[in-house]
Amino acid sequence: MTRQLHHHIGGRERPGSSGRHGDVYDPATGHVAAHVPLADAGDVRAAVDAARAAFPAWAATPPLQRARVLFRLRALIERDSDALARTITAEHGKTLSDARGEVTRGLEVVEFASGIPHLLKGEHSAEVGRGVDSWSERAPLGVVAGVNPFNFPVMVPLWMAPVALACGNAFVLKPSEKVPSAALHLAALLGEAGLPEGVFNVVHGGREAVDALLEDGRVQALSFVGSTPVARYLYERGSAAGKRVQALGGAKNHAVVLPDADLGAAADALLGAGYGSAGERCMAISVAVCVGDATADGLVAALAEKVEALRIGPGLDDPDMGPLVDAAHRERVRGYIDLGVAEGATLVVDGRAHACTRREGFFLGGSLFDRVTPEMRIYREEIFGPVLCVVRVPDFESALALVDAHEYGNGTAVFTRSGGAAREFARRVQVGMVGINVPIPVPMAFHSFGGWKRSLFGPLHMHGPDGVRFYTRLKTVTARWPEGAGGAEFVMPTMR
Ligand code: NAD
Repeated sequence: MTRQLHHHIGGRERPGSSGRHGDVYDPATGHVAAHVPLADAGDVRAAVDAARAAFPAWAATPPLQRARVLFRLRALIERDSDALARTITAEHGKTLSDARGEVTRGLEVVEFASGIPHLLKGEHSAEVGRGVDSWSERAPLGVVAGVNPFNFPVMVPLWMAPVALACGNAFVLKPSEKVPSAALHLAALLGEAGLPEGVFNVVHGGREAVDALLEDGRVQALSFVGSTPVARYLYERGSAAGKRVQALGGAKNHAVVLPDADLGAAADALLGAGYGSAGERCMAISVAVCVGDATADGLVAALAEKVEALRIGPGLDDPDMGPLVDAAHRERVRGYIDLGVAEGATLVVDGRAHACTRREGFFLGGSLFDRVTPEMRIYREEIFGPVLCVVRVPDFESALALVDAHEYGNGTAVFTRSGGAAREFARRVQVGMVGINVPIPVPMAFHSFGGWKRSLFGPLHMHGPDGVRFYTRLKTVTARWPEGAGGAEFVMPTMR
């Protein structure tokens, strides 16, 4: 039975008025599991109408009461964590354990946002003049929207919505049309937690829905996570329309392996970081930069065996790696493996030949390339699949220069036993998130997440302190008590 999904607008299910639908696949079987409505401008307008109507009362709700909704949401997500994880696996394909980890990382943002009374505390200065006090406070923006990628159906909405809602905004979420169900589950949980109708809405769709959000003057801010071309498009159009935009884009994360590193540990770390979630993570390691041929030879030998031995199967069976999200993406990744061979890189493990490719579903084995060079497209472009490229460099400075020259700057890692080298790397590298012997350095909820260069458009990162800054605007009040100081003043007021 193919499920028919719906939008969630004003606290109710809405079929949508466009009449257009997209297919949602089970990547482990390749079968269509659901149909998702694709919103037109009218559907988006209805969602913004609902959010706009709900905003004033929600903004006027004391932060402590808003926080209590999030406390209840936290308990409900925990109650439903298994169901949420299964929904992620069913539509994205990642393994169940990985999906559970995703739910937990999202939950942590709910926990962070539950502290909103503390986070919204402003600054106060007594006696900025005689009888004059001044303070700053943070006000919500109004209706804000989030546009999400396919690879984290629960975590990425939770990077955005809990912080936005805690700050007193109303939210319109546009999930990826490839993985729409988890967002509807979150909407139901928010309702159960006591969030008033219309404060959180979900509209499904693709570019038409996103363009309608960009064009609606009532949408004050847009948070985006996805590929760089779309991130840039949203940033440019949104900013030109006077909206606040944070747009997180693609990545090509390098792990630098220095000659003194524990190669066994580095190989294990790279195996998880390169092939976990079938490489469909913006913080996946897709390039291993080996300093010296001996390091490269050792790492490639250790990795080759492990990549060959990866257990690949349906995510619900909890292997090491599940399928890719859909057939088109698998073909794209396969195309990059063909390209790497044509470009002259050494294909050490060929995922195209793995037994899993004979199953139904969108399976592809893990691939490992050695002797990749910076001119090759498999090095320059984001593949977003289970393909790790090894680049050989002669020394530390060349490794650092290589990381810095890449157009993306999302995450990076260094593997070494030298504290001095690690410190030097972390201090100098032009990348937003850095790991030292930690392959995927995703900041915790109470820090902020974001890359540099073409991995992030806009000044503010996601969740943590930057999230609160993004979803509020600063107001500074200056007050004189008792009233009046006698006589008109025609000069700039200064302390006398
Ligand atoms: P995508 O850019 O194709 O889609 C993201 C969202 O944009 C979806 O909701 C989609 O419906 C919408 N969209 C697609 N094309 C559009 C267009 N032309 N105009 C307007 N909206 C459009 O990305 P994806 O394939 O869903 O996700 C994978 C990408 O996301 C990778 O590049 C990955 O690196 C990136 N990503 C980045 C981060 C990060 O934190 N930097 C996190 C997760 C994923």
